[in-house]
Amino acid sequence: MIEFVMPKAVKTDVLYDVIILGAGPAGLTAAIYASRSLLKTLVIDSAPAGGLASTTEVIENYPGFPNGVTGPQLMAAFRQQAEKFQAEIIEMIPINSVNLSGREKIVTTDLGTFRSKAIIIASGRRYKEIGVKGEDEYKGKGVSYCATCDAPLFRGKDVVVVGGGSSGIQETLRLLKFVNSVVLVGFPPHQTAGPALLARIKEQKNITLLLHHRLLEIYGERTVRGVKIEDLETGEVRDIRVDGVFIFASLTPNSELFEEIEKDRNGFILAEDRTLKTNLPGVYVAGDVRSKILRQIATAVGDGALAAHAVKQYLHELEKEKTDNS
Ligand SMILES: Cc1cc2nc3c(=O)[nH]c(=O)nc-3n(C[C@H](O)[C@H](O)[C@H](O)COP(=O)(O)OP(=O)(O)OC[C@H]3O[C@@H](n4cnc5c(N)ncnc54)[C@H](O)[C@@H]3O)c2cc1C
Repeated sequence: MIEFVMPKAVKTDVLYDVIILGAGPAGLTAAIYASRSLLKTLVIDSAPAGGLASTTEVIENYPGFPNGVTGPQLMAAFRQQAEKFQAEIIEMIPINSVNLSGREKIVTTDLGTFRSKAIIIASGRRYKEIGVKGEDEYKGKGVSYCATCDAPLFRGKDVVVVGGGSSGIQETLRLLKFVNSVVLVGFPPHQTAGPALLARIKEQKNITLLLHHRLLEIYGERTVRGVKIEDLETGEVRDIRVDGVFIFASLTPNSELFEEIEKDRNGFILAEDRTLKTNLPGVYVAGDVRSKILRQIATAVGDGALAAHAVKQYLHELEKEKTDNS
């Protein structure tokens, strides 16, 4: 179990100018812009900081790195830059509820309640449940959706991975550094992963690719002990003994917590393009959790900068209103 130590600077009795929910590329960029503009800025992430970008082995399309850069390297630099300007970052803190409709925004966590004048939602996406038997029962007891968070817990163990799209393959490459072996189930006949990624996965020694198979059931005792998989060509059902199951099927927005915010039919948050403000005053959105057509680090970074700038203008208007009324 990882023990959390509260950074000295973070206090629950402070009214922050802005709280940013999510420390991926969008959230950390917003933190750089906000804190550099001298806004009192707190970033809270319910998982390790870095977001989905830090699960990527090599990023080749983010400008400024002609030879590519690893996700963890890039995200460590983002974080360092945000902290340099005094943004406070807390990570691995579950957020229990938010109240965003009032003038003062309230975020309730296991560490206590945090308050701010404005909020930027930058909570990104996560891998979705696939609804197989045993998945719910063994969630957190061997079933995981995040290699970055959980791979070290499976050091030297045998695991099954479900999902062979490009995201699933990148996550699997990360996992392979820790585990003894991987069986990749459902490696689809028509690949969505590019040839370079496919070549890399095929040259790994401790991986078995099971094409045209699907996961039927996850079973165990207190934790996962194995899975049943079906060969889609022959109908044969096989039992594989494993200690863990990683599910990297499709990605869904982390937006359920924000009940009062308007979303599109897939759960992505709607915002005005020019400012990224949502339907609630003082609440902005940035990155993959926003309804838009391209979800990449470059677009998340652009969103983060824009949302932070819009927050600055919003706070300026609040101040002006206060002065005019006094
Ligand atoms: C395997 C893979 C490979 C990729 N490769 C590339 C690539 O090569 N190039 C590229 O440009 N893009 C790539 N992407 C896409 C890129 O990772 C995303 O577009 C980018 O990370 C989005 O940034 P974000 O900050 O919006 O969200 P995320 O990076 O998802 O970060 C969101 C953060 O919010 C946290 N969070 C979630 N819910 C809450 C909550 N309620 N409260 C607080 N925090 C919360 C999460 O823990 C997470 O840390 C890849 C994605 C995947 C999955």
